[in-house]
Amino acid sequence: MSEGSVKKAAELLRQGAVMLTDSCPICNYPLFRTKSGDVVCPTHGKVYLVKNDEEEARVKRDIALDSTESILIDGLFTVAKKVKDDPMDTDAIVQVIRYLDAIERLRKINPKQHQ
Ligand SMILES: [Zn+2]
Repeated sequence: MSEGSVKKAAELLRQGAVMLTDSCPICNYPLFRTKSGDVVCPTHGKVYLVKNDEEEARVKRDIALDSTESILIDGLFTVAKKVKDDPMDTDAIVQVIRYLDAIERLRKINPKQHQ
C-alpha cells in the first residue's frame, strides 16, 4: 500500500464513493464503488468483480464490446479527417456513415455505457 493509494482512497471517498467489503484481487486493498457505479481499486483503477461463470462471461462480453467501440470510434475519426481534407471525397463520406451505423448498432446491444 503506497502513500499514493491512501491519497487516492481518500479522494474517492470525498467524491462520494463507497468502500466495499470486496477487496482488489491484485493487491487485496478494499475496493470502492464510485457514484457512476464503477468498482475501483485505489492502486489499479477499474476492477471487474465477478461472482460466477455467467457474470464472468457477461463482463468479458462487455469488455469486448467496449474495445470494439473504441476501435470503431478511432476508425470514424480517421475517415472524418479525410472528409475534412477533401469534402468531396464521397467514399470517405460513405465510410463515415458506415462507422456511425456500426457504432449505433453496437450501442444498441451494449446500452449500459450510454444511459
Ligand atoms: Zn489493487
